Amino acid sequence: MAARYDAIVVGGGHNGLVAAAYLARSGAKTVVLEGRHKTGGAATTESPWPDAPEFQVTRLSYVMSLLPPTIINDLELARHGYKIYPMGPYYQAFPEGGSIKLYADDAKRNHESVSQWSKKDADAMPKWDAWLAGLADVLGPLLLTVPPAIGSRKPRDLAATLKLAWRHRGLDVRTIADVTRLMTMSIADLLDDWFESPQVKGALAVNGVIGTWAGPYEPGTAYVMAHHSIGDVGDGHLGNWGFQEGGMGAVSSAIESAAREHGAEVRLNAPVARILVEGNRAVGVVLENGDEIRAKVVVSTLHPRTAFLEQVGRENLPDDFATDIEHWKSRSGVVKINLALGELPDFIADPGTQLQEHHTGSVEMAPTMEYIERAFQDARDGKAAVRPFSDGVIPTAFDKTLCPEGTHIMSLFTQWVPADWSEEPHAEELDAYADRMIDCYNELAPNFKSSILHRDVVGPYQMEHEYGLVGGNIFHGELSLEQLFHMRPAPGYADYRTPVDGLYYGSSATHAGGGVCGIPGWQAARAAIADRKSVVRGRGRSASRRS
Ligand SMILES: Cc1cc2nc3c(=O)[nH]c(=O)nc-3n(C[C@H](O)[C@H](O)[C@H](O)COP(=O)(O)OP(=O)(O)OC[C@H]3O[C@@H](n4cnc5c(N)ncnc54)[C@H](O)[C@@H]3O)c2cc1C
Repeated sequence: MAARYDAIVVGGGHNGLVAAAYLARSGAKTVVLEGRHKTGGAATTESPWPDAPEFQVTRLSYVMSLLPPTIINDLELARHGYKIYPMGPYYQAFPEGGSIKLYADDAKRNHESVSQWSKKDADAMPKWDAWLAGLADVLGPLLLTVPPAIGSRKPRDLAATLKLAWRHRGLDVRTIADVTRLMTMSIADLLDDWFESPQVKGALAVNGVIGTWAGPYEPGTAYVMAHHSIGDVGDGHLGNWGFQEGGMGAVSSAIESAAREHGAEVRLNAPVARILVEGNRAVGVVLENGDEIRAKVVVSTLHPRTAFLEQVGRENLPDDFATDIEHWKSRSGVVKINLALGELPDFIADPGTQLQEHHTGSVEMAPTMEYIERAFQDARDGKAAVRPFSDGVIPTAFDKTLCPEGTHIMSLFTQWVPADWSEEPHAEELDAYADRMIDCYNELAPNFKSSILHRDVVGPYQMEHEYGLVGGNIFHGELSLEQLFHMRPAPGYADYRTPVDGLYYGSSATHAGGGVCGIPGWQAARAAIADRKSVVRGRGRSASRRS
């Protein structure tokens, strides 16, 4: 006899856990099926060194920003352990000497810091911040909007499109032009319009290429910068970027705890092999061990290729949808390097191994735009970057739970290696790449290399094979223009529903993903709950609605 639930959630990453918490809260008997031995997916805290279990790292994702207050409050996450330390400034030391610090919320100190490199840029900075804040006011609320099926002539879709247009009726020609610029320009061109000094442009370019298979001169990277800079998604002001106490796995654990409290069951080591479809309706799943579990609602939070092409199957999908998913772009070339340090980096520009402000934010290796671009061009030419770029953080500047007293954890989010390294482990080359990355920091802080006690290098192959991040893309799919909003994950299906009735989709490959924001899981659960209610009221909804 197959086990029966009201709702099955496939994947226990943070989005799956959010979906389960909301479904369970609505009264649905819900089970989460997670393939690994632990929940969290890419939001995970782990001890990668068996001989040093006292060190814990946030193995993949490393900082929080976009989780909306609605989800935090609805699920009472603070009560379940959600606790954020706001990050310090952006910091870059330069090989030629000197350093720059950028403060998210201190215009005066920003001005002082940038003035060292360019008085003109220092004066431009407040206008840039105001310009970005204005655009965030437009784009932020869109993150919580269910994208309409633009082009569909069905009355419900037309109404949704018109509603969206009406909501934005106040936008003027100037704002529309600025949004257009943001969506279409490269971060390099955009910054050239605003700033002159290479140091400032390098610092501001980082957010435009994070997790992206594109260098700073590629169109669309200006939007990636905005995605990482939006601080308010329309339901309250979000904090700046911050570190979760206990690492990113503690965010997932807090959500899991809330889900369990609402009655959700979480099964580990339960990889799903297939989603069962009968007469264009999802009716359950089959696990890899052959067990069958049935439910009227199935929410998948896996990479779209796994969810649709492997688990639903082309035979159960409309041709155009399956083709769209086959064409889904999912490259990154990201390598995560986690380090246990015996002491903090002692920068030539800002000496000392005692904890100082510049250790508390992002500790970057992105001295200029050209440096970042060179790293991308190396990877595009088929080799790992000779001098990789890195977004580094030292969460233990605040969080004392991750390692023994007197030691630190440093997390380096680095780019790029060739996109096709997701197909083979490339273990030796990854090691050599990590050596070069460490050497780059060592040039700026000569105690760096000798301070490393342990290191853990996670490349695209491991991301795909251990964590299900197909192609090594950190967001289940690139944030390129053709994969955003009503196109994410496919045109006509951006409302967290799918071509299969009863099957909902809430991974980072939907609108508002990626990142640890929970919005996809929340929206997928909301769609399922709304449809369930309309079925009860006798107004069932068909999912096959692209027209
Ligand atoms: C290196 C790296 C750094 C990042 N840095 C940040 C950051 O600092 N801040 C930020 O906000 N975001 C960051 N991100 C992005 C963010 O982590 C992801 O967008 C987000 O965690 C994805 O959540 P998800 O629940 O959609 O998917 P996932 O976390 O991928 O969860 C999917 C789950 O499904 C499970 N699964 C896979 N196959 C099966 C199966 N067959 N059956 C059952 N379960 C299965 C997986 O084990 C996993 O637990 C980063 C990502 C990476 C990889």
